[in-house]
Amino acid sequence: MSDVREIINPSTEEAIAEVKALSALETEAAITRSAAAFASWRKVAPGTRAALLRAFAANVLSHNEELAQLEVRNSGHTIGNARWEANNVADVINYYSGSVERLSGRQIPVPGGIDITFKEPVGVVGIIVPWNFPMPIASWGFAPALAAGCTVVLKPAEITPLTAMRIAELAHEVGIPQDVFAVLTGSGRVVGETMVTDPRVKKIVFTGSTEVGVHIQTIAAAQVKPVTLELGGKSANVVLADADLDKAAASAPYSVFDNAGQDCCARSRLLVQESVYDAFMERFEDAVRGVRVEDPRLDSAEMGPLISSSHRKSVESFVDESMVLFRGSCPTGPGYWYPPTVVEVVDPNHRILKEEIFGPVVAVQTFRDEAQAIEMANDSDYGLSGSIWTSNLGRGIRVARGIEAGNLSVNSHSSVRYWTPFGGYKKSGLGRELGPDATDAFCEVKNVFINTEI
Ligand code: NAP
Ligand code: MG
Repeated sequence: MSDVREIINPSTEEAIAEVKALSALETEAAITRSAAAFASWRKVAPGTRAALLRAFAANVLSHNEELAQLEVRNSGHTIGNARWEANNVADVINYYSGSVERLSGRQIPVPGGIDITFKEPVGVVGIIVPWNFPMPIASWGFAPALAAGCTVVLKPAEITPLTAMRIAELAHEVGIPQDVFAVLTGSGRVVGETMVTDPRVKKIVFTGSTEVGVHIQTIAAAQVKPVTLELGGKSANVVLADADLDKAAASAPYSVFDNAGQDCCARSRLLVQESVYDAFMERFEDAVRGVRVEDPRLDSAEMGPLISSSHRKSVESFVDESMVLFRGSCPTGPGYWYPPTVVEVVDPNHRILKEEIFGPVVAVQTFRDEAQAIEMANDSDYGLSGSIWTSNLGRGIRVARGIEAGNLSVNSHSSVRYWTPFGGYKKSGLGRELGPDATDAFCEVKNVFINTEI
């Protein structure tokens, strides 16, 4: 018997759906079906598999508005962001549909024969995603996995499963078999852990907290099961004195408050060169006060609520331990609202500078020179993303090369383009998603030698 879980709209605190929470036995049964489906999916002709993925992408695109509205209700994302996210899913599927026919091995010269390599799909892939970006993050795993010829069991976060469930239906509507792409709803402890433990799941893609990522890698290690891990972040936004301060200050709120700060790439540490601190902060304060935190259904909304009451308490606890410099405004309840907040801490070892807050809170620090900026940016266990603001391009690249992080941008707060690789250094992760090589993570390489001297 399955349990059910009530799904809450974080903007209204109302229940909007009930979703099955699968048991371990039900999860194992789904894995059995996925393993059976793999035997035929891997043999589907590349042109046919590519065409199915293209039809899937087109179906997602034509349901963009429905998916976006669903995400607004389930996750509190602003409608503008949610439309981008649904569009990103279609783009990602389309992009990897193109890699189906390009997936090829090599012929390597060897004495006495012919040597050929084959790229073979690993089998059933388990994809475990968090609640902060339910749509795009799922697609970054399932699209290249399906393209490589793997079957997928996808576990959305228990509190945000609705768009993943709808996306799977859109796949099935165009002819991708149900057991080739199955969404398994339920808790991480039960469904997620069963996926990691079951030896028939040959690869795990996990996006979530570093704590759970370490746990998953530990279990997977016992089976020598490969894992891709996309974990937490504590990224820096570095504003050098020669930056265009107007542009840097106008961008800075969006580099940390986007998705209410519930973003692994959030630049939650703002490092400003001391000689321009006052000039920058004056502009930054105006920009923060201007962020529109409102009903996420409105086209004008720039930030919605946090995901839950317990998460808001956790965000609040960080702010309670620091000095608020200034903050924006937000609606009062119902809804798990929290205003964009800028804080200062004196102690460089304070947890607000070390731990991921995952809310609309940024801590400001100053630095003397370029070398100290790099040193401070690297003073973190994490290494996911970051921005550098400067009018000197050579310096921008030099600082970017000095920062230990996987995704950096110069004079920009953007982090993700589906055709470029994405992933973290240090405790931010292992492996890369997206970009031209993502399908390789779902393939074994087989080398075959043919003796021509016989
Ligand atoms: P989380 O608590 O680590 O959970 C992530 C997923 O793992 C959820 O689906 C969760 O299921 C599942 N899970 C929990 N325990 C598990 C277990 N023992 N075995 C298998 N699966 C398990 O993370 P979250 O709170 O949802 O998301 C926030 C975190 O994700 C942040 O740290 C953020 O930085 C990170 N993140 C990273 C990236 C990136 O690309 N680097 C992107 C986005 C988010 P349930 O929650 O349903 O129980
Ligand atoms: Mg969690």
